[in-house]
Amino acid sequence: MPHILGSDISGVVAQTGAGVSHIKAGEDVVISPGISCGHCKACLSGRDNYCFKYGVIGEHRTGGYAQYIVVPAVNIIPKPANLNFFEAAAYPLTFLTAWQMLVTKCRVQPQDWVLVLAAGSGVGVAAIQIAKLHNAIVIAAAGSEAKLEKAKALGADFFINYETQKFREEVRKLTDKRGVDIIFEHVGEKTWEDSIKSLTPGGRIVTCGATTGYRAVTDLRYLFSRNLVLWGSIMGSKGEMLHVSELMKAGKLRPVIDRVMPLAEAPQAHRLLARREQFGKIVLAIE
Ligand code: ZN
Repeated sequence: MPHILGSDISGVVAQTGAGVSHIKAGEDVVISPGISCGHCKACLSGRDNYCFKYGVIGEHRTGGYAQYIVVPAVNIIPKPANLNFFEAAAYPLTFLTAWQMLVTKCRVQPQDWVLVLAAGSGVGVAAIQIAKLHNAIVIAAAGSEAKLEKAKALGADFFINYETQKFREEVRKLTDKRGVDIIFEHVGEKTWEDSIKSLTPGGRIVTCGATTGYRAVTDLRYLFSRNLVLWGSIMGSKGEMLHVSELMKAGKLRPVIDRVMPLAEAPQAHRLLARREQFGKIVLAIE
């Protein structure tokens, strides 16, 4: 969804008007990817991603791979002027997701140890930056040295290659047996048990996915005896989306693009993702 045609979207805005008077016809915009009912208690409390009817464009509804799209007016926000269209397409979903996980839910603090699993994924590159923005200590874990080098460029402090190292042992070494405060999970079955056991007392584990499988084992003795907190998380609120966009505009966060490919090569783009060959986002562009 690299090109959001401003005039077309704004045409919808002009008719509905609600909450977007700051958007002019023809203005470049970004689409907030979560759609909700807009009138339930969750929506009216600013927690629209808790709405019973919540859905994500591209997951629960179609329209992402298209030249034109119609969305509710409340879902459009001005494009940060310092980002080009490809960059603007690469940040909304992943940075919003990572923001809610680390900031809203885990309440990341300065000097917290944060372990980011799959550090080269879309949400992973966002998590590294958001944790560093809060002055946390970041351990990036990924499956190749090349990805870890790139994680270093984003500000990560320590590195674990979980193809060649056991991350639970490495976490113990790095933290002098203490364990980490926060684990940013979405790998699932393959890493979950070690993740739970890598947390320090009062540690928080937050997950937004289960790419290697969802039948993960949680040793409950660790959960209660270490006062652990277990968070599930999907997306974030529209207010958080605006906040992330402001941080993009201020240059405090930046999108990470692996490559831009033509829409016609979407199957190849999916194969690259499935093989975890990318670092950050692959953007599909309409010619
Ligand atoms: Zn609702």
